[in-house]
Amino acid sequence: MINVTKTYFPPIEDYQRQLERIWKNQWLTNNGELYKELSQKLQVYLGVNNIIPMTNGTLPLQIALNAFGEGGEVITTPFSYVATTATIVWEKCTPVFVDIHPEYLTIDETKIEAAITDKTTAILATHVYGNPCAVEEIEAIAKKHKLKVIYDAAHCFGVKYKGYSIFNYGDVSTCSFHATKLFHTGEGGALLCQDEATRQEMWFRHNFGHNGQEEYYGLGLNAKMSELQAAMGLSVLPYMEYILTERQRVCKYYDKHLDFNLLSKLKLREGTQWNYSYYPVVFKSESQLLKVKSKLEAQDIFPRRYFYPNLEDLPYIQSSQCPIADDIVKSVLCLPIYDSLSHENLKQITSIINYD
Ligand SMILES: *Cc1c(COP(=O)(O)O)cnc(C)c1O
Repeated sequence: MINVTKTYFPPIEDYQRQLERIWKNQWLTNNGELYKELSQKLQVYLGVNNIIPMTNGTLPLQIALNAFGEGGEVITTPFSYVATTATIVWEKCTPVFVDIHPEYLTIDETKIEAAITDKTTAILATHVYGNPCAVEEIEAIAKKHKLKVIYDAAHCFGVKYKGYSIFNYGDVSTCSFHATKLFHTGEGGALLCQDEATRQEMWFRHNFGHNGQEEYYGLGLNAKMSELQAAMGLSVLPYMEYILTERQRVCKYYDKHLDFNLLSKLKLREGTQWNYSYYPVVFKSESQLLKVKSKLEAQDIFPRRYFYPNLEDLPYIQSSQCPIADDIVKSVLCLPIYDSLSHENLKQITSIINYD
């Protein structure tokens, strides 16, 4: 069976070595030695100054929205994973959907200003498949209207834009270290921000609001990453170069062998150093997508409709203002991509798609 992705498992001895450190320390969570080491190593690897690894990639979104959303309207994209919209609603803010760019698939920055009202508090946009939003234009709009910018950068581990980590844009970025993501800690994620003051605020919010044992800065919840998660992260991190090289190989194969008369591929924004996180293709129609998908499934190959559905169609939303996202959602399919996907597998997948 070939799935859309396959979790990378580091050699078990590597993980055991990290677990032995935990047993030696007799310390399982709350800013432990492995947690601190992982934070430090990620800062160096990614080229960022302020990272707070957390339990998953959804809680940092929730924490940032709780701090910045203020129960107002949050401008967002309909083309993302459900977590992006659900968090806005969970935090009692109102999602206001702005359509996406037909090729970059990120929020269309030229349509943002028309959606701003006096209730707007923040913009929450997704760097879809690791493809950066128009970060400079969005920053200018946010400055002009005094809005906070949060990026759902769940797909962006290692992505650079114009030479800098994509996490260095916006007031806050969030990343996911879920097992299906490029770099993982089983479950996990992180919040990234630009300055020490924001880091401190986000830090206390992710640890019950604690200021020492007996005082509190303010409202908080529990989003702390444990030592067991950090152990997985420290075991996976040394293999990132291997993972990226192998995924690049897969992308190159698809680029070279897929028939682009039948479908189109993602257009990366100029200046992007990408991370090969997904291989989405857009078919000419939904019926063509469904035909190819069932042919692949008949051969035990499982691509994924990702993202599907349009987030405007969620049972607790039900609005419809974004025709481009509607079209893309119906016709986009993510093809299998992971480090151990073999040449034979790739040959089989592309020939089924090409001779549909
Ligand atoms: C994976 C993902 C999330 C959620 O991250 P978790 O670590 O699973 O909580 C949020 N947004 C996007 C775009 C994602 O792909």
